[in-house]
Amino acid sequence: MHEFSMTTQIVENVLREAEKHNAKKVTEVHLVIGKLTFLGAEQVRFSYNILVEGTIMEGSKLHIEEKNGVVKCSRCGHEGDFMYEDNPIYHVPTPTLRCPKCGGVVNIVGGRECTIKSIKLVI
Ligand SMILES: [Zn+2]
Repeated sequence: MHEFSMTTQIVENVLREAEKHNAKKVTEVHLVIGKLTFLGAEQVRFSYNILVEGTIMEGSKLHIEEKNGVVKCSRCGHEGDFMYEDNPIYHVPTPTLRCPKCGGVVNIVGGRECTIKSIKLVI
C-alpha cells in the first residue's frame, strides 16, 4: 500500500512540526500531491483518517491539492503538461516522455512531489 506508507510519513512530519510549536491540536493540513506520484487522493484520505486517530491531529481537516505533471523538452525548451497516448493494453491514456511540439525527449520537472503546503495549529 503505497498511499499508506506515504501518508504515515506525512502524519509523522506534521506531528513533529506540531511538537516543535508545542501545539495542542492540529486543525488543518494542506497537501500538494503531484499526479506523477500516482497516489490516490481517496486512499490518502482513508489512510490519514486511520493514522490520526488518537493523536492531536484527530478531527483535523485534510485538503488535497493535485498538481499536474510538468515536463521540459531538452530540444526546444517546451514546458508543460505531459503528452498522453492511448495505451492499447490498458485502454487508458498514459503519459509519454515525448515533446508534443517537436517530438524530442522531455524531462520531468514537476508532479512527483508530495508536500505539506501548510498546517494549522492550535497553540
Ligand atoms: Zn520539444
